[in-house]
Amino acid sequence: MKKDIEKKKVMPAGREKLIATQETDEDLILNISLRPSKLTDFVGQKELVENLKVSLEAAKKRREPMEHTLLSGPPGLGKTSLAHIIAHEMGTKITATSGPAVQRAGDLVGVLTNLEEGDVLFIDEIHRLSKTVEEYIYPAMENFEIDVIMDKGAYARTYKFNLKRFTLIGATTRAGLLTAPLRSRFGIFHHLDFYEIGDLVKIIMRSAKILNIPVDDDATVEISRRSRGSPRVANRLLRRVRDWAQVKKDGKITMEATEEALKSHGIDKMGLDNVDRKVISVMHESFAGGPVGIESIAATLNEEPDTIVDIVEPFLLKIGFLKRTPRGRELTKSAYDHMGFSRNAKEAQKEMF
Ligand code: ADP
Repeated sequence: MKKDIEKKKVMPAGREKLIATQETDEDLILNISLRPSKLTDFVGQKELVENLKVSLEAAKKRREPMEHTLLSGPPGLGKTSLAHIIAHEMGTKITATSGPAVQRAGDLVGVLTNLEEGDVLFIDEIHRLSKTVEEYIYPAMENFEIDVIMDKGAYARTYKFNLKRFTLIGATTRAGLLTAPLRSRFGIFHHLDFYEIGDLVKIIMRSAKILNIPVDDDATVEISRRSRGSPRVANRLLRRVRDWAQVKKDGKITMEATEEALKSHGIDKMGLDNVDRKVISVMHESFAGGPVGIESIAATLNEEPDTIVDIVEPFLLKIGFLKRTPRGRELTKSAYDHMGFSRNAKEAQKEMF
């Protein structure tokens, strides 16, 4: 099971993308130190953190596991980190897996029967659980028991297994894809939003301290601005700028090093990368700015529709470059201005970076 998780998270060499959903090898190694382990280290998402504190405190007072919790929001905003923090704050263990990794009911039964009292079971991409597995989860969530069917046909028998009381934490980038029965079994629901610049500045300062990287204040703000509201992207950009500063400069991250490094990686002033700009260009050139469906954009770009829906679209909507209409997605004037379609291409490029 653990192998499946690791396989899913590691990208093939040479395919690293600065806004990728998946973790790279480097992330897996470095996140161990950068991932906040206590609630006090978790920056931003104030309302969520306040509510979570109450839920944790109440559960501890009642000496019960915390209620099953669903965390939704774009990738890289801290869902996995929060699951680890909840386990840490409750003083329990966490078992982590993902929807695509538990394809057979047997996989899930194995995981559930190994949980100890109060443990956290974290299921990433929970909207991708198969139907059969989902049905096994209902009684486990509701009554902490599972029905296991042994043998087939006339000999089929159902055995009930009692489980220890645990907390299921589900994470999803698409809360809308969760079935109603699964969604209704969660007692707590939190949505994570893109981070403000001020919070990203704090996250970058904390990471720079842990990684022992000297960074100028204005450079920290510039990296935050280009992190598309995501701590994962912020940490990743910090590391790329560090590489540049160490190889091309004297090691210190300055504004100049930041601008040069990010330009070399195709990250523009708004934090858009090549894929974001390709999506905008295709919408402009092939679909006259829309309205157009995601499937058509994805097909033209030879990208997965999921990549566009999960990673590209939410941020473009957030910064007002895209809008959703009943007939599809449409580019806004801000997107046109940023891309400078009507201007001299060289001039537009200069302003963009
Ligand atoms: P998700 O599960 O939503 O994809 P993660 O929890 O894996 O996101 O977060 C990605 C990385 O971003 C973490 O390893 C951590 O380094 C950083 N991170 C996320 N949220 C925060 C936060 N609120 N404060 C500090 N760092 C964070």
